[in-house]
Amino acid sequence: MAANAAPIKETTMDKCVYCGRDLPENPPTIRVKETDFEVCSEACRQAGKKYLARDKKLKLPLYLIILAAAVVIILTAVTRASMIGANVMQIVVGMAFILLPYPIANFTTFQSVPVRRVILITRIIGMLLAVWGIVVLVGALM
Ligand SMILES: [Zn+2]
Repeated sequence: MAANAAPIKETTMDKCVYCGRDLPENPPTIRVKETDFEVCSEACRQAGKKYLARDKKLKLPLYLIILAAAVVIILTAVTRASMIGANVMQIVVGMAFILLPYPIANFTTFQSVPVRRVILITRIIGMLLAVWGIVVLVGALM
């Protein structure tokens, strides 16, 4: 059957993987492992490559910070210790999200959410966490 014989296209998205704009004809690509991600311009190709290279190095530190925060928050809850440690860790995680916006474990996610939007959403969440943590902390210390 012809439908089965058709080659599987790796990238199903017809938007730039970095900025989310429509793709031109014959778009440039960024290769990640076995997958070619299509981008709309050379600028997006460079920015996307830079993001992916940093992601490789900085994802682990981000995950470790989140893990450490989770441990502190669980210990705080279990031991009924002062919430200050948990508040501080919440602020730390918020800052980590702002500085290290690399939360995506699987690059195929970028086929539905462009890189730039992932960075924006991650930073907004980080900012909310940090501000909320600071407000609670200041309230607790006053
Ligand atoms: Zn683009």
